[in-house]
Amino acid sequence: MATTRKVIIIGSGPAGYTAAIYAARANLAPLMISGVQSGGQLMLTTHIENYPGFVDPVLGPELMETMRKQAERFGTDMIAEDVVAVDFARRPFVVRTADASFEAHTVVIATGASAKLLGLPSETLLMGHGVSTCATCDGFFFKDQDIMVVGGGDSALEEALYLARLGRKVEVVHRRDTLRASKIMQDRAFAHPKISFIWNSVVRDILDPAAGKVTTVLLEDVVTGARSERRVDGLFVAIGHEPNTVVFRGQIELLPSGYVRVEPGTTRTSVPGVFAAGDVQDSVFRQAVTAAGTGCMAALEAERWLEAQRLG
Ligand code: NAP
Repeated sequence: MATTRKVIIIGSGPAGYTAAIYAARANLAPLMISGVQSGGQLMLTTHIENYPGFVDPVLGPELMETMRKQAERFGTDMIAEDVVAVDFARRPFVVRTADASFEAHTVVIATGASAKLLGLPSETLLMGHGVSTCATCDGFFFKDQDIMVVGGGDSALEEALYLARLGRKVEVVHRRDTLRASKIMQDRAFAHPKISFIWNSVVRDILDPAAGKVTTVLLEDVVTGARSERRVDGLFVAIGHEPNTVVFRGQIELLPSGYVRVEPGTTRTSVPGVFAAGDVQDSVFRQAVTAAGTGCMAALEAERWLEAQRLG
């Protein structure tokens, strides 16, 4: 095992990179364990227009590459491996990948969350080209167009209500005939003139992915088995998110939903010296800029914690 690090950052989305930039500039020589697939959810996005600092749209992978270079420029070491286990019961903390073991006085968890997907090959092919998991990010590209939202929870209705401000019409496809969403969200969606519902139905396929955009969706009525085609321009999958916290189970306190519990207004977890930033601790806002903001907070809190322990 190599020397003990002051900070290890696990995960490489906007939260992780921002934590790395701040920690590196504070001379903490952070180690980032970026994951085999680095960059997080923005790697699945095309144009980003709501991240401050860019007059013109920036591509998700490009933005992440810029953040990575910025973190490296100030001396962040990167390891492109997945974390397979952590031990937060002992100090220094231990973080393990398949090939190596690392020690650190503080850890920033920035492993994000993954949007649940339908699992269709066409969905993967058209992700960022008409298929999206984020209305705030991509709704603008569907101004005055026909939009479909999949899901029956609060996220689906929130996305539908947001998209109804932009699109010509919004159809919500739900696999049952009752919604899981809260009453208030249901009332708002039912009352909205642009929103309609397609009940007991699932998306079986997105036709013609070779077109490079969404044109037609194949639906199946789960009660009758009848199939039908609907012309749409944008398909928003809003069937929930899964925080990437499996390796932290039993090591820090998680909420029943699986998200990391942090003290309100901080990035402090239940283990002093372990901080959590970005979507892994945020089921509400889930934006690149809010993730970056909490990444900054985590690095500053780690720095202060190290100073208080005289480890800085
Ligand atoms: P959720 O409550 O788990 O709802 C997921 C929805 O997607 C359910 O309606 C589910 O159907 C459907 N679904 C799941 N897998 C599917 C699949 N493979 N194919 C088709 N449909 C599928 O997730 P969420 O809406 O993201 O909400 C997560 C939590 O955040 C909830 O506690 C929610 O209240 C909260 N939240 C709150 C707000 C707000 O208050 N403004 C906004 C967003 C989220 P079934 O109903 O049949 O299971």
